[in-house]
Amino acid sequence: MLTDHFRPQSFNGIDDIVIVGGGLAGLFCALKLSPRPVTILAAAPIGHGASSAWAQGGIAAAMSTGDTVEKHVADTVAAGAGIVDEKMTRMMVAEGPARIHDLLEYGVPFDRDLEGKLILSREAAHSERRIVRVKGDMAGKAIMEALIAAVRNTPSIRVIEGYVVEELVREGRFISGVVARPDAGQSKTRVSFPARAVVLCSGGVGHLYAVTTNPWEACGQGVGMAARAGAIIADPEFVQFHPTAINIGKDPAPLATEALRGDGAILVNSKGRRFMLDIHPDGELAPRDVVSRGVFDEVKAGRGAFLDCTKAVGKHFPDMFPTVYASCMAAGIDPVTQPIPVAPAVHYHMGGVLTDGEGRTSIDGLWAAGEVTSTGVHGANRLASNSLLEAVVFAARIAENIKGTLPAPKLTEWGDNAGENDDPVTVEDSPPFKRLRGLMSECVGVVRTRESLLHAIREIAELERVNTRLRFANIITTAKLIAVAALQRAESRGGHFRADCPAERPEWQRRTYLTLAQAERLAAEAAETEPA
Ligand SMILES: Cc1cc2nc3c(=O)[nH]c(=O)nc-3n(C[C@H](O)[C@H](O)[C@H](O)COP(=O)(O)OP(=O)(O)OC[C@H]3O[C@@H](n4cnc5c(N)ncnc54)[C@H](O)[C@@H]3O)c2cc1C
Repeated sequence: MLTDHFRPQSFNGIDDIVIVGGGLAGLFCALKLSPRPVTILAAAPIGHGASSAWAQGGIAAAMSTGDTVEKHVADTVAAGAGIVDEKMTRMMVAEGPARIHDLLEYGVPFDRDLEGKLILSREAAHSERRIVRVKGDMAGKAIMEALIAAVRNTPSIRVIEGYVVEELVREGRFISGVVARPDAGQSKTRVSFPARAVVLCSGGVGHLYAVTTNPWEACGQGVGMAARAGAIIADPEFVQFHPTAINIGKDPAPLATEALRGDGAILVNSKGRRFMLDIHPDGELAPRDVVSRGVFDEVKAGRGAFLDCTKAVGKHFPDMFPTVYASCMAAGIDPVTQPIPVAPAVHYHMGGVLTDGEGRTSIDGLWAAGEVTSTGVHGANRLASNSLLEAVVFAARIAENIKGTLPAPKLTEWGDNAGENDDPVTVEDSPPFKRLRGLMSECVGVVRTRESLLHAIREIAELERVNTRLRFANIITTAKLIAVAALQRAESRGGHFRADCPAERPEWQRRTYLTLAQAERLAAEAAETEPA
């Protein structure tokens, strides 16, 4: 679907920069590139099909009295379990306040006190109050609404919605455009978009798993596409589970934001026992991976896990956390008086397409921003509310880099018919995709073992053998990269937990870098390993 509103005549014939994805990273990058002509291709209408619109906590930025860049860096490094890139992190954190001011200028209504100063909240593993929020849990929605309005008012930005990008076109060392399938990926025809610069902002991988908080568009297509085009992928094994997805059998699972625990909500089992204090001195505010395993163990042992907000939030719930309140009430749970059933769900991917400080990937002509990347700032475990920060900081840096390195727009034909090549497929409904999601949750999930990973790699190979569709190839490539890297990393660190090697190992205090060719070789070796 091409929205006429977004199709100014002046664009005919110019396709200089193509941005894949209309979440926070994509929209922010387009706005920062203005007045340079930009085309955004988004799988769903912007504002939909993007994790950005669902963010509940907010954005972290060292802006309060007493907070410093160094403190924010130190918290990020501590959360990242020994493999955070400190240089990149310092750069991101230092630029955070300026990007918050940009968002204010675009009209984001961050919460303010009576004097008009920004209200800063505290979240798990942050040593200071540094999260800017909107009406408790409405940050993502409000940010996206403001940016969508700004994009609509920017004539240099053309938005094409419902186009699922399936391929990055590579010519020698360069990415020279993309190929997309219209009608939310259902069209028989594909359309090519030549471009001098492609910025990949396609979000995360949550829907590779059976239980996730992410929209279905976040199924790892971006990482797979980039890997298939030859890009280096970093740290794919590090997947973050959110410990408190609301456990009511919905797909995607609604989220009970971390801010609830920041405000004093506690985790109990069905016997009313507060179990996190036995596991970590910070209790409910321990790092996400620790809380996730605590919740996972209670659920697996049949005792269940519940977030009890009745004392900490109580009657203020509807005003303070309207989104969570609505999700609970829709499932017949009143969080003012009742504990909320919770379970861990895939929430965020620390790994992704390797980028440098300017958002450049290892292939010329391809930049990337947001969750699809691995900039190194999250290490093995993301600090809450650092991902929206990462999206805006690096999207802005990419805009500067492109403006500096590609000064003149190029005239090309856009919208070439790239022909029919492949049956369209509704990814979310297809049996192989469902099988893959179950496999990833079971064998490459909160708790992994060598045996479970070998099994996953063999099953992935089988699924790959019988499914030749391009879009599925992108998705399964990402699954393979995650499973292979998780098998290689014979230790536990951050979001990656191996029950067969539960400790960190000094020789593994390093990031993972993997090309698809390397992953294919490792997967072939693993597939030949005899089952125990
Ligand atoms: C429920 C929830 C709550 C969260 N809360 C917070 C929070 O409080 N603070 C925080 O910092 N982070 C939070 N996060 C994480 C954060 O929202 C994301 O990491 C961030 O929004 C990612 O932004 P993005 O622009 O990279 O991706 P997205 O916002 O996911 O956007 C990706 C875009 O790419 C499109 N797309 C995908 N594949 C294709 C394709 N093949 N072709 C074309 N388009 C494609 C999608 O449709 C979408 O438009 C939360 C995440 C979730 C799910």
